Amino acid sequence: MPWFTQDFGNASSLHGPGRKAEQAIEDARETVARILNCHPGEIVFNGGGTEGDNHAIRGGAWHMRHAGHGAHLVSSPVEHSAVGETLVRLSEVQGFTHSLTPVDHYGRCTPDALLATCRSDTVLASFMLANNEVGSLQPVSELAGIAREQGILFHCDAVQAAGQLPLDVFELGVDLLSISGHKFYGPKGVGALYLRSGITLESNLTGGSHEDGRRAGTHNTPLIVGLARALELAEQEREEHVARFRRMRDHLIEQVMLRVPGAELSGHPVERLPGHASFVLDGIDSGTLLMHLDVNGVAASGGSACKTGNPEPSAVLLAMGYDERQATGGLRLTAGRSTSEDDIDYAVNVLASSVEKLRRLVVAT
Ligand code: PLP
Repeated sequence: MPWFTQDFGNASSLHGPGRKAEQAIEDARETVARILNCHPGEIVFNGGGTEGDNHAIRGGAWHMRHAGHGAHLVSSPVEHSAVGETLVRLSEVQGFTHSLTPVDHYGRCTPDALLATCRSDTVLASFMLANNEVGSLQPVSELAGIAREQGILFHCDAVQAAGQLPLDVFELGVDLLSISGHKFYGPKGVGALYLRSGITLESNLTGGSHEDGRRAGTHNTPLIVGLARALELAEQEREEHVARFRRMRDHLIEQVMLRVPGAELSGHPVERLPGHASFVLDGIDSGTLLMHLDVNGVAASGGSACKTGNPEPSAVLLAMGYDERQATGGLRLTAGRSTSEDDIDYAVNVLASSVEKLRRLVVAT
């Protein structure tokens, strides 16, 4: 709070209040670096997961092409749009090409499949640690091992995983890794990018020499301090929270499978985020379902970018082999720190009756 209310110094200024803010940012950098098991100089603060993904991919791709290594990028078809759309833009208007490593029915890639997607001119690979829509975990350290053998930069979008899984960049073997404050109970609009020492990225934002010339723009001191503190708390309490998330999630999955006819668990049954449950509800438009849930106080997400009456199938579910009809019926429910077993029982009751109503409506029309 003091960084919002009384200590307004600009961290780039040489006066006392500025130096105080700079010290707070450097302390935050040390905290984040300790948790990611890297050097503080390898952390770049930014405006969130989208910016970190863009910086890593665009910056890595431009730098590698400039150095004459090639212009081919690889990723998976289940990435967040912060990665997927960035690859599309680079390919459509900036002269790169990209290929997507196929995923299995759980949304996971194998190292062999990645190897088969790489070419002699591949310069960068980007794979997420945990999927936002279906919760499945990618075997990132194995994928990063393949990239290393091929001399390819490896970026990992760890936005969903932070606060729930260990994020040791050395163990993961990644070159670049992005996280975002709001996924671990920190502030929105702030993130951090791990950038392994020795790697140069073209800067996405040019201007001042903030963040060692890697990200221009005045530091948002309160958000950076908040991100580091939230990550520190999440890490200190991770095992305790994860054990609880798992219990809640397993109860939720069990109840949904028991009470909602035709529900299928999507994503990997075991290798998934501890608090994450996702389902495919055949014949249900998830946009309409989400509205029914919302009016009854259940905040959920759909898999697809849907508008009522015009459901768009989820690209993630399609890539996992679901058909178009199934891919419009994705539902994601997550357990958080304050979720109780009663909340879950309530949500499942609402879900079961909403699905029944929607199915009756479909039969009637
Ligand atoms: N990557 C993943 C996997 C996400 O789930 C999200 C956001 O939900 C992002 C990137 C984008 O992060 P931000 O919202 O901080 O820009």
